[in-house]
Amino acid sequence: MHCPFCSTQETKVIDSRLVAAGHQIRRRRECIQCHERFTTFEVAELVMPRVVKRDGKREPFDEEKLRSGMLRALEKRPVSTEKVEQSVTKIKSALRATGEREVSSEMVGNLIMAELKELDKVAYVRFASVYRSFEDIKEFGEEIAKLGD
Ligand SMILES: [Zn+2]
Repeated sequence: MHCPFCSTQETKVIDSRLVAAGHQIRRRRECIQCHERFTTFEVAELVMPRVVKRDGKREPFDEEKLRSGMLRALEKRPVSTEKVEQSVTKIKSALRATGEREVSSEMVGNLIMAELKELDKVAYVRFASVYRSFEDIKEFGEEIAKLGD
């Protein structure tokens, strides 16, 4: 953080505290060069990263699409709506936690598969069979074989 008074790069934090019910961090800083003091606020960026598809196209993250994809796989399966919502929240948190502005659709798909694997094996296989490309068919067969154990 450059000093806003003299532009020196070296500033030190002299105090930091949570504000706005813990949603912000307020920091008092002091410039090592000119000794001026100033305040910065740090806020978590809640913007979801954009999704890069296999063909390189970018699209905004679509929570509805994520949810409907999972629900389609979970059709007529004994999994509560609450569990599905918890999974959706977990996937969104994982995507935000990357700190990236863009994530691959493959990463999103893998997160969905990991959640479905926990929720319901049948839904997992359904989703994986649609999602995985034919190149992965051998690996996919191995995954199904593992489920039989
Ligand atoms: Zn300064």
